[in-house]
Formats: sequence, structure tokens, C-alpha cells
Amino acid sequence: MLIDSYNRVVDYLRVSVTERCNFRCQYCMPEKPFSWVPKENLLSFEELFEFIKIAIDEGVKKIRITGGEPLLREDLDKFIKMIYEYKPTIDLAMTTNGYLLKGVAQRLKDAGLSRINVSIDTLKRDVAQEIAGKDVLENVLAGVEEALRVGLKVKINMVPMKGINSQEIVDVLEYSKERGMTIRFIEYMENSHAKKEIKGLKSKELLSLLAKHYRFSDDGFDGHSPSHYYTMEDGYKFGIIEPYEDDFCQKCNRIRLTAEGYLIPCLYFDEAMSIAEAIKRRDIKGAALVLKEVVRTKPEKNRWGGEDAEVSKRAFYETGG
Ligand code: SAM
Ligand code: SF4
Repeated sequence: MLIDSYNRVVDYLRVSVTERCNFRCQYCMPEKPFSWVPKENLLSFEELFEFIKIAIDEGVKKIRITGGEPLLREDLDKFIKMIYEYKPTIDLAMTTNGYLLKGVAQRLKDAGLSRINVSIDTLKRDVAQEIAGKDVLENVLAGVEEALRVGLKVKINMVPMKGINSQEIVDVLEYSKERGMTIRFIEYMENSHAKKEIKGLKSKELLSLLAKHYRFSDDGFDGHSPSHYYTMEDGYKFGIIEPYEDDFCQKCNRIRLTAEGYLIPCLYFDEAMSIAEAIKRRDIKGAALVLKEVVRTKPEKNRWGGEDAEVSKRAFYETGG
């Protein structure tokens, strides 16, 4: 079992399979980065899988494939199948922008993927184009329909931003609710890669906007999920991810692996340790030691809410959010 210095059990690994993306979201990667990680530095699926086996053997129970845009990486279904066949009981999920989902949803499901989170910040074509830098909405919505059709469980992620999509929170909630999908509103997390002008809606602002339309009760946190959940009168649950709140990190159970092989203990901070060399040498003990050290050094909490905090320099497209 992996336990950090604050007695939190770490059993959730997020794996970013690429930092590249076909969108240029304003809050994540508004411009193409100055340079990408050279392709030869990326770990192959076999190498990532070698590490994942170690992590599973050490107690990881949940794995989420993310990116950049994970569906840009060829043969992702084969990678998912490798993980699934190693441990069919693993909770295997993916986060995607949905653009390429329609063509691959069935293959992903057949490979062993059970759940998928799709990012939908708006239901307006022009606003989607403004946020993502290209005309994406039709493909994304078609991807969601196909994922539902093949039987994947789908959640929707929305980042509400002032003056951009904040007037659409009810519409995106209703869209999700009609299709039986949970929506999670994610507070915009400031980072040095995002467009400077962005102002996210904080949880309290969101709740007061939602309270104009619905009555709901506060359910608190559900297990280790980062979402604070609320239940509406008709039983529908929605979540808010509130990294600026003081208690957000108390139950954190996750670490992140980048496509280059860096293990990252916290989304906010720059610290990371590489497992790439150990994996390439097939040094299982060495990689397991790095894993344990990363867990040991996991910070108590992020500094998004901190008064003297600097803007995080961590790129979301690199860590996978
Ligand atoms: N490309 C995929 C996608 O967009 O769903 C997966 C990677 S993306 C980095 C993972 C999640 O992080 C998405 O739901 C996205 O909305 C969220 N995200 C990215 N930048 C963010 C930021 N600055 N603040 C809050 N959430 C962010
Ligand atoms: Fe790409 Fe996802 Fe970042 Fe948007 S949020 S730029 S889709 S990685």
C-alpha cells in the first residue's frame, strides 16, 4: 500500500499519454507550446505499462488515461487492453476533449474502458470555437452520443469562465442531466500557460447562480473524489471541483505520470521524479523506489488558495489535469 507523509493512501494514478493536443483551450494551451517533448523521449505504451504494473502491484486501484488529448495517440485501445487484462478489476477511466471519440468509443469499451469524462464548456458553436481555437462542437457532441450508445459511463467536465461561458452553466447541466451524465464544474486553476485575461467562477459564485434555478442540498465529498457534490430536488447530483478551498487536498489519493515518465506528486507544484531510466533498464525495484519517494514527498496541499501563492507553472496539458 502507498501511504504519504500525511497518512493519505495513494491508490489513484493519472497517466498522461501525450502532451500534444488538437485543441488550444484558453485555460490550458492557448498557443502551441514553444517546443514539444521530442517523440523519442516519450515512453512507449510497453514502457508505460511496465510502470503501471508496478503501481498496481504497490496498491493502485484506479487509473485514468489523460493528456494533452489522449485520443491523438495511436493504438490507445491496445494500451487500455494491456492494463485491463493485467487487472480486470481496475477502475479504468479516461478524460478526453471528445473530438475523436465517435470513431473509437466502441473499441475503447471493448478494450476494457468503463468510464469516460468529456470536457464540454459550452453548447454554442461559436463559443466552443472561441474557447478551443477551432470549430469543435459538432464532433464533441457526436462523440458523447456514441460513448453513451456503446455503454460507457460518461461524466461531463465544464470550466466556467466569466464573460465566456458562465451564462451557460444551467444549459450544460440540463444537457448532462437529460442524458443521465453527472456534470462536474471545475474551478479555473490559474497557471502560467493559460490566457492571462481568464477569470474563473469560484464555487460560491456558481452555487448562487445555480440557486436561482434549482433547490439542492449539500452532500459534501464522495469518498476520495475531488468533487463536492450537491443533490437537486429531483435527485440529480452535480459536482464542483474546488481547488481553492482549504479542505480540497485533505483526501487527495492521486499522483500523475507524464508521457515522458515524470511522476508528479501534486498538480500545483513543479516537483517531479523520473521513472524513465529505471523502466528502460527494466529495473523494477528502482522504479518502485521512485514511486515510493514521490508518494512520500507528496505535499500536504496545493497553494491555489494561498494569499502569497505564485501562479502555478505546471502545464495542465502536460500533467493531464
Ligand atoms: N484533453 C482532455 C480534455 O480536455 O478533457 C484531457 C486533458 S485536460 C488537461 C483534463 C481536464 O483538465 C479537462 O477537463 C480540462 O477542462 C481541465 N483543465 C485544463 N486546464 C484547466 C485549468 N486551468 N483549470 C481547470 N481545469 C483545467
Ligand atoms: Fe487540449 Fe484538454 Fe488542454 Fe483543451 S484542456 S487544450 S483539450 S489538453
